[in-house]
Formats: sequence, C-alpha cells, structure tokens
Amino acid sequence: MPTLDTAINGDPDTGADLTPYGGVTADAAWAEEIRSLAQQRDAVLLAHNYQLPEIQEIADHTGDSLALSRIAAESDASTIVFCGVHFMAETAKILSPDKTVLIPDARAGCSLADSITGEQLREWKAEHPGAVVVSYVNTTAEVKAETDICCTSSNAVDVVASIPAEREVLFCPDQFLGAHVKRVTGRENLHVWAGECHVHAGINGPELAERAAADPDADLFIHPECGCATSALYLAGEGAVAEGRVKILSTGGMLTAARETNAESVLVATEVGMLHQLRKAAPETDFRAVNDRASCRYMKMITPAALLRSLRECADEVHVAPEIAERGRASVQRMIEIGTSGGGE
Ligand code: SF4
Repeated sequence: MPTLDTAINGDPDTGADLTPYGGVTADAAWAEEIRSLAQQRDAVLLAHNYQLPEIQEIADHTGDSLALSRIAAESDASTIVFCGVHFMAETAKILSPDKTVLIPDARAGCSLADSITGEQLREWKAEHPGAVVVSYVNTTAEVKAETDICCTSSNAVDVVASIPAEREVLFCPDQFLGAHVKRVTGRENLHVWAGECHVHAGINGPELAERAAADPDADLFIHPECGCATSALYLAGEGAVAEGRVKILSTGGMLTAARETNAESVLVATEVGMLHQLRKAAPETDFRAVNDRASCRYMKMITPAALLRSLRECADEVHVAPEIAERGRASVQRMIEIGTSGGGE
C-alpha cells in the first residue's frame, strides 16, 4: 500500500507510471480556454474539496463526493467532468448512466477504494451468509454492486443502527470509520474490513495530541477516516481536550462547522486540499493542518494540464458495465436518500 513518503512517479503496487500531466500554467489564457471548451462540450466542471486550488477555482461546483454526485445527477449538462478520483467519477456515472462522464486522469485512484476488491468482498460474504453489507462510498463500482447499503461518514452510524440487531453486518473498507461506528452502536456482530487510506492513516494520534496541547483553545475538525479519529475521541474522553472542541466531520460537515465556529484557530485533520475551502468559508479563522504532509497524490494528479487535455480530447471517459451499474445504483440510491448533504469524503 502506498505511503506518505512514496516517491512521486510510480505506483508501488503495480509499478505503473503515475507522473501527472504537466507543462501548463493555470493563467488567464488557460482559464479562458477551459471555460470556452466546457461551453462547447456542454460540460459541467465538478471539483472535490481535495483538488488543487486552481482546479477548485475554475470548477462550477466544489464539494464532497456525495454532494458532487447529486449535482451531477441533477445537472442539465450532457457531460460531467469530474475532478476527483476514479471511484467518484464512477459513482457519478452510476447515477447518470446517460451522461458522458470524464475524469481528467483515469490513473487517479484511491488507496482506500483499492483496499477491497469485488472478489474479496464475495469471499467475505461467503464466510458470513445472511450478513448485511455496508460499504463506505470510497469503493469501486464492482464493490458497490455487491453491497446492500452504501454509507457516508455522516450517516454510517444511522445506517448500521437501522439494521435488525440479530443480523450480522460486514462493514468495509475503512477500519477507522468502522471502529467509530462499532463503538457508537456498541454492536458486537459488526465485522470491520482492515482497509485504510494512506493519507488519513498517516495523521496519527501522537501528532494530534502534540498539536492540541500546543494550541489549547483551538477547535479540532477530524475526518473519521483519519488514524487520529479514535485518539481524538479518547483525548476528549480523558479530558485532555474539551469534549466540545472535538468534531468528527465529513468534509462537507467541516465547511458548515467552519462558518459556525467561534474559535480563533482550528486544527484540521484531513487531506490538506480542504484548507482552501475552509479559509474561503471563514477567512477570519486560522485553519491549520494537523499534518501538512497529508496530501493525496491521486487527487493532485488532476492538474491544469490534465483538465485541458480532458476537455480538448474528451478524455478519459468513465464506463461502468450496465449490470454492475444497475446493482450498484440500488445501494447508492439508499445512501442518497438517507445521507445528509455533504456527507461523503
Ligand atoms: S485522500 Fe485517501 S481516501 Fe481520499 S482519495 Fe486520496 S487515497 Fe482515497
């Protein structure tokens, strides 16, 4: 599995070249060409909160994966350009099968989504016949097709609590979110897959404790996928930080909390791209990363050059086999119906 320190140019698992498209500056001429091509292609540009600032600025909409998928489904545009990682573009395609969905660089994967394959999930289900499968939205279309209910970080607890107590539950792929759900629901028959995101797992408890001690009045915004999420709850439980200061939030939830906080400073435990939107939402608040090396190399593959290429060449198009899409859609629709806006990564 890739680590924070992985060298830039190769995937350590497959050896595939992951050098981002480069050589283009995000200047005024670039912005004009992007806007003009988007209009010609009848395209709406969507950018995830972890994207490079220049990509977030040129997009029609920014947000978390769930909010963007909803916008994609409701948009009148015939083409969706999804500036994010591959599973997010797949989710948009599942929800909008008749639209053309482009991702500016199809090599932009996700270590969390890659933590479990469809084959592994089928084997796990065979070991637990009758279990209900709950998958976080960071999964491939094939895994979604094997899933009963997709969940977001904000509705994962409610989804699991709604399943009859006697039914076993298989929760995948994120072990930190799974541990959070298991603790809150107190459910013994919940089995958690040992997957993780290399970026979020790298934001660890000791680092958080150190930063919180150095800044005792700061609020703590923590994404539940982070390796430090359980430590944050532990610190609050131990009285090391005031309980009200620890907020376990999705990226969309962080933006709402940013507009509402009275704190002068906020320590943020998630991918560093999130700081751009938080600073825009509350310019008077000092937002600081718990770990400023927590940058997702896959998200940052969507460069100005990649976006320009995407619109010029109508690439890379995302396809999901119709039977996979149909099965995946049922689990995603349940998530959309019960998920609050802004509940995805
Ligand atoms: S930050 Fe982690 S979970 Fe998010 S896209 Fe990157 S690898 Fe995947």
